[in-house]
Amino acid sequence: MIRKCFLCEESTEKVFSTTWVLPGLLPTEIGFSICPKCGSVCQSPSVDFDDMMAFYSSIAVYTNPGRQELPSTAKIRDLDEQIQFIKRGIGNLPNSVLQIGSSDGYTLSRFRDAGIARVLGVEPGAASVSLAKRLYQVNCIHGSAETFETNENFELILMTHVLEHLYNPQTTLSKCYRMQQKVTEGFIYIEVPLMAKASSLCPGFFSFEHINYYTRDNLLKSLTDVGYSPVSVLEHFNSNLSPVIGILASTKVQHHYSEYQSCYVDNKQILLEYRQKEISYWQGCLDALLPNLSKSQRVFLWGAGIHTSQLVTNTNLLEIVKINGLTDTSPLKWGINQGDWLCQSPKDINWKIGDYVIISSYASEKEIFIALSWLRDIGVVTLCLHNRDI
Ligand SMILES: [Zn+2]
Repeated sequence: MIRKCFLCEESTEKVFSTTWVLPGLLPTEIGFSICPKCGSVCQSPSVDFDDMMAFYSSIAVYTNPGRQELPSTAKIRDLDEQIQFIKRGIGNLPNSVLQIGSSDGYTLSRFRDAGIARVLGVEPGAASVSLAKRLYQVNCIHGSAETFETNENFELILMTHVLEHLYNPQTTLSKCYRMQQKVTEGFIYIEVPLMAKASSLCPGFFSFEHINYYTRDNLLKSLTDVGYSPVSVLEHFNSNLSPVIGILASTKVQHHYSEYQSCYVDNKQILLEYRQKEISYWQGCLDALLPNLSKSQRVFLWGAGIHTSQLVTNTNLLEIVKINGLTDTSPLKWGINQGDWLCQSPKDINWKIGDYVIISSYASEKEIFIALSWLRDIGVVTLCLHNRDI
């Protein structure tokens, strides 16, 4: 589908696109486009809303192997900061908080521990709703940002890493603003990946699941357009995989930031530079593995999902190496096709000496590599594509 600008609804201009081969979906053209009026970048052409929802509910897996349902140390650190940042920005912690996209409930459990009496989540994933209840006794409305309803008033609304996924993010922000009209002063805290200069962006930054891209300027605009007044901003470039930005905004009218200026020229440059960097990055990673791969009898790809799609899309892998299969530890993915391959359980493959496995996940490369010691014990070679810190 072709999307209009998520901020000003202008028709967008395509900068680049490729064919993605995704698990459970037909090959799809996915591209990234820019708004000629305001300069905002969005995914367009994009997969249809229904296909995206099918992807989320069937095969998107957000828990990494080996953590036993515990928050990562980075997550704990981020929450320490987020709570202090909000407390400083408001002057005190409010009495009630609603989190849209509450995931496993950890974030709300931390706000409750910090002293907020009333916490409530909104979460579309049924598994996450029960996880939040079981792990942290956090209650959630089972619903999406677009459809949930509540008559309760909340002084603080949290939306971390949600807006970049929504087909109509401004509709959800407006809904939040309306919901806070009965409180004396309402606050919202938004956090999203930050579209910084191309040199600051990790491989895969322009991704399948992220359909809206935010800079500091257009995130401020997205809040002021619906009525909020931003009061505090935080930005980090090196703390997480990709740069992040958080903004705290109030329902009380204030004027701390200048009028929005279009960022068309700068943002288009970011997209073009990123695309060049992305192609040479993935191909460079693959080229570094080739001397090893030439000794292989059979080659398997580890992981049915986005990184496999990126590896296939951004390199000449299929022209130079015969891929014998695709495997993944998640039972949700077994029996699902991705491109020409059927994803199998690793236990169903008759592994032999001379078999090679390519691990292509950028974010979880190390965890996957460590978890595959059993394959190395039986003579299978496990190669890390990115080779980041092993
Ligand atoms: Zn626009």
